[in-house]
Amino acid sequence: MTIPDLNIAKFGGTSVANYAAMQNCAKIIAANPSTRVVVVSASAGVTNHLVSLSNTALTHAQIAQILEQIKTIENGIVAQLAKPDEVTEKLSSLFDAMEELAFHEELLHRDDLKDGLLSFGERMSSLLITEVLKEQGVNAENFDARNVLRTNSVFGEAVPQIDEIKSLASQVMKSELAEKVYVTQGFIGADEQGRTTTLGRGGSDFTAALLAEALDAVSCEIWTDVVGVFTTDPRITDAARPLPELSFDEAAEMANFGAKVLHPATMEPALRKNIKVFVGSSKEPEKGGTWIVRDCVNEPPYRAITRRKQQVMVTVKTPKMMHAQGFLQQVFTIIAKHSLSVDLVTTSEIAVSFTLDNPTNSVAERLNRETLDELRDFCEVVVESDYDLVTVVGNNMHSAAGVSAKIFSSVRDYNLRMICYGANPHNMSFLVHQDDSTEIVKELHRSLFE
Ligand code: ASP
Ligand code: MG
Repeated sequence: MTIPDLNIAKFGGTSVANYAAMQNCAKIIAANPSTRVVVVSASAGVTNHLVSLSNTALTHAQIAQILEQIKTIENGIVAQLAKPDEVTEKLSSLFDAMEELAFHEELLHRDDLKDGLLSFGERMSSLLITEVLKEQGVNAENFDARNVLRTNSVFGEAVPQIDEIKSLASQVMKSELAEKVYVTQGFIGADEQGRTTTLGRGGSDFTAALLAEALDAVSCEIWTDVVGVFTTDPRITDAARPLPELSFDEAAEMANFGAKVLHPATMEPALRKNIKVFVGSSKEPEKGGTWIVRDCVNEPPYRAITRRKQQVMVTVKTPKMMHAQGFLQQVFTIIAKHSLSVDLVTTSEIAVSFTLDNPTNSVAERLNRETLDELRDFCEVVVESDYDLVTVVGNNMHSAAGVSAKIFSSVRDYNLRMICYGANPHNMSFLVHQDDSTEIVKELHRSLFE
């Protein structure tokens, strides 16, 4: 049976950080009868602990200590449950399995084991919040996302297999939705062999959107600790304010260009199926939030300003480049061969500068000796990494008269290393020195929004 107005609600790490926070979530879930699937992150801090277990060489005592910190978070929640006995057995078998992996000899060298270990945060939080929901009278059932969230086998950054997810979700979940509320884990999936995979840090939003798509939901709520998506990061300026609405395209640009509210891939399923996405605070649901929709009431030229930090810029030049054919191709072939992806490019007669896509800040490592040596075989290479990328997101930025003039006049006093219009009309970016980026964002915010 299909629920006509099905809603998927996702709760982030701070929203499920402790018992009181989980109770806020439970109230939000209980208040909306259309919410039949709940997706949760690990309780705040837990994934970070698991990541440090999985990528640092630690002593036995250090491992034990980190495990203890995780257990303290989980047990703190259990201690406040009305019926703790309902979960103690399940939780302790999760603890045992987590410990076994944490102490596994090959953990540091095997990505499949790492993903296995990382999955425990969500598996524990989803178990516990299910109990909190039952306390509030919700007919909740803990559901293992790995039964439906099929991915490829790229551990750590697994790619969801959309068609399979859809068919598995229809088979296993759909018929039950009228009766119960499924509570499942974000971030984790399983490959064809049933091995646990993860979608990359922050991937729970993506899970929620994927399930919304697979189950034909009409909406997907992302509950977090902010009252929506802001004009810019409120930590940069007090003048930042929440946006009542945003288009899919704008939201995707914002996520790509560094806004931390949504995992960048989240908008893909929403776009494909026209599922509206809501972002709000589980602590203050009465304050409303941001609706991300296909067609907005307003399409202002400026919607928001984002910043992406620690950009790596590579400049290649050769005297021979003048009128040389094939130079760019040679450069980009080497970059692609080393699995680096190019983000922004500017060219002049004698030099090409580009930034590298740096979603996990791992580019510096991957831009290794080998890549540089191959480039240096035929050109001069300069690598600079103290840049931030500031992006103005909006609409019709290429065509509307005066739109870019206004942006340029607010940044005229700064040294702009690169200026890029996006391939679509929704963004305009500046690569600036990291010491200037806060002031630039403030200045742009003042002139475009205040
Ligand atoms: N728990 C995972 C993380 O911290 C996934 C998520 O929260 O979305 O990255
Ligand atoms: Mg999170």
